[in-house]
Amino acid sequence: MKTKISMIGMGNVGSVTAYALAHKKIADEIVMLDVLKDLLEGHSLDLAHSLAWEEGTRAYHGDYTDIDGSRIVVVCAGAGRRSGLNRLVLAEQNAKIVTEIGASIKKHSPGAIVITLTNPVDVMNYVMWRATGFPREKVLGQGNVLDSFRFRWAISQVIGAKPSEIEAFVIGEHGNSKVPLFSKVTVRGKPKELTIEERMKVTELIESSNETIIKKKGGTVFGPTQAIVRMVDAIISDKKEMMPCSFVLKGEYGLKDLSIGVPVILGRNGVESVEEWTLDHAEEVSFKRSSELIQDTIGKV
Ligand code: NAD
Repeated sequence: MKTKISMIGMGNVGSVTAYALAHKKIADEIVMLDVLKDLLEGHSLDLAHSLAWEEGTRAYHGDYTDIDGSRIVVVCAGAGRRSGLNRLVLAEQNAKIVTEIGASIKKHSPGAIVITLTNPVDVMNYVMWRATGFPREKVLGQGNVLDSFRFRWAISQVIGAKPSEIEAFVIGEHGNSKVPLFSKVTVRGKPKELTIEERMKVTELIESSNETIIKKKGGTVFGPTQAIVRMVDAIISDKKEMMPCSFVLKGEYGLKDLSIGVPVILGRNGVESVEEWTLDHAEEVSFKRSSELIQDTIGKV
């Protein structure tokens, strides 16, 4: 059977992600949807031309009837964060969009796994789960994979190691209350304890570099794209790889009825299992605060 990935929302992140997935030849078909029909057609033709010299993925645009039988639906539709603006203020506006899209996915591709990108992603992934009515294992949000890229990069800048030699993860809200897990940082496979001063520099660098991207180019694109590519690859290739993703909890970490970033194992069924890590006291307090902020916004939308 052919592997189809559907992309809903072909703005900055959606279009670059469609390009990256198509050229990775991870799927037989990529279907693209957007409410802006001219933009959609433009991206669709541009992408089709870029694929003309190689065997592999067929990319085309369409409507919801074309998403039937999708293995994965990636949702990058909605308004984005602007400089100085908290992601949580986007919630109300994007909740309406995500609710509509979720209902259409449910109708036209009921067996799909959904990856939500739309911000505030933890709240939107919860809205998506409710709108689709899918099993929670099939609805996950991307936020903390990107946060973890940034964490590794910032540590590398501060301690002078290669980012690829660092293992470091962020959990919690993909937003201001994110929880970088300093207690679990390893460098070349060995635990690495950063000083208080180093931790402060890393934290500052994560925030300031993100703000710089938003201020100077309008929004992040390559980072989230690569995060989605890793998640899609883990699912389609059944890698059983650990990644922190936003996921609807049912008692794990003492929480339920919200979606929040936690370490999960990704494989062919979506979320195969949740890893319950032991956090240090400060991380536990921050994670709880993060969950309260998300729950508060869910209550509002
Ligand atoms: P963008 O404005 O460039 O693109 C959004 C696209 O969504 C537009 O083309 C718009 O026409 C389309 N759209 C709006 N409503 C739609 C609907 N009902 N159906 C189909 N398409 C619709 O924004 P972007 O920079 O690509 O970001 C998209 C979303 O992803 C934003 O919410 C942004 O905050 C979020 N984002 C998340 C992460 C993350 O890590 N989770 C990273 C970057 C951006």
